[in-house]
Amino acid sequence: MILILFGPPGAGKGTQADALKHKLNLLHLSTGDILRDEVSKESELGVLAKKFMDAGELVTDELIIGMIKNKIVSNTNPELGFLLDGFPRTISQAKALDEMLTSNQLKVDKVVSLEVNDSVLIERLLSRGRSDDNEKTIKNRLDVYKNQTLPIKDYYDSSNLLVSIKGDDAIEVVSNNIFKALK
Ligand code: AMP
Repeated sequence: MILILFGPPGAGKGTQADALKHKLNLLHLSTGDILRDEVSKESELGVLAKKFMDAGELVTDELIIGMIKNKIVSNTNPELGFLLDGFPRTISQAKALDEMLTSNQLKVDKVVSLEVNDSVLIERLLSRGRSDDNEKTIKNRLDVYKNQTLPIKDYYDSSNLLVSIKGDDAIEVVSNNIFKALK
């Protein structure tokens, strides 16, 4: 199964991914986590990505698509699915994902969209304390989300893959609702 967890920063994608990956035997691929790991290793990719991340801007499609392709192609266990968190974030990433999956006889099975309103998102992000969770960067990340990422919802909705889940309930309630929607 290939599942996309979709939603704005602070919607709870990482938290829900942690619960779902065990239940569904999926490999959790968070582009944000992979990038933060590269930043902490000070790799070439990390150094390049850091500037965008600190500003709350998206890292270039080319870098991100290459990074995800490596992970998907290097999976040797056909039983293991993927749980994508924070990817795709642009229409070009969504199209590139479809292409790389099709050429590996795979496809996206479901896109779970976590719906949370802005005031709750801002409150959650400010309390998280990550280096890119300051007021100025948060505002930019929410703008970037609306302008560049939100159009993906229509892209998946038109292929009937989208399911929307209320994301501001308690963690377990949200997990259960996602689980039910996937059955
Ligand atoms: P996240 O942990 O998903 O909020 O990602 C943190 C930061 O990493 C984002 O603000 C972007 O700068 C970058 N990033 C993560 N995923 C992507 C992606 N799919 N495309 C472009 N940039 C990304």
